[in-house]
Amino acid sequence: MKELKERIVRDGKVLSDTVLKVDAFLNHQVDPQLTMKIGQAFAEIFRGERVSRVLTVEASGIHFAMATAYALGVPFVYAKKKKAVTLSDEVYSVPVHSFTRQETYQISIAKPYLSSHDRVLIVDDFLATGAALVGLATIVKEAGAHLVGVGTVIEKSFQEGRGLLEQMGVRVESLARIKSMQPGAIQFIEPVSA
Ligand code: 5GP
Repeated sequence: MKELKERIVRDGKVLSDTVLKVDAFLNHQVDPQLTMKIGQAFAEIFRGERVSRVLTVEASGIHFAMATAYALGVPFVYAKKKKAVTLSDEVYSVPVHSFTRQETYQISIAKPYLSSHDRVLIVDDFLATGAALVGLATIVKEAGAHLVGVGTVIEKSFQEGRGLLEQMGVRVESLARIKSMQPGAIQFIEPVSA
């Protein structure tokens, strides 16, 4: 997605060769116009897949799941990282290890919001190690639902996330794929058709 890549180059900050800061427009301050276009882009890619629910993890996937679900005309569900008292015992739950935060947390989705009849599209802001998305994909499997694919806004292709998901047989579509990065220089993998 051309506009997204231009924005990453203009407003993104490469903090190290593995960490990209995009909190000026993507995951702290948020550009709603760009977010809605991202949702449209995912909706177009997965339009033929008869998606019935979009899934993400709180917090930074929520606005992209919302934009995608709105474009597809379906609900979205976000997995919770902390078990609220209002969340019943009837949950799908898996542990996820965060390499950026160096902690393991549990992600949960209440059973009524994911069923074996669902055709699920998972959406998230970043694909890095893939831990969060593998966790969500595992929940979809546990629910007996069909996972049509994963859409990520920014993929750091030099990390292992895509490989792990593809090993699980999951289709991965990313709107910007970063091949490598250093301060002042971000290289993208260009789609064959571009
Ligand atoms: P994972 O390692 O499970 O693929 O990524 C988990 C989460 O860490 C992502 O959803 C994203 O919120 C955050 N993350 C991973 N890499 C980066 C990065 O380079 N920059 C930012 N801002 N967040 C990241």
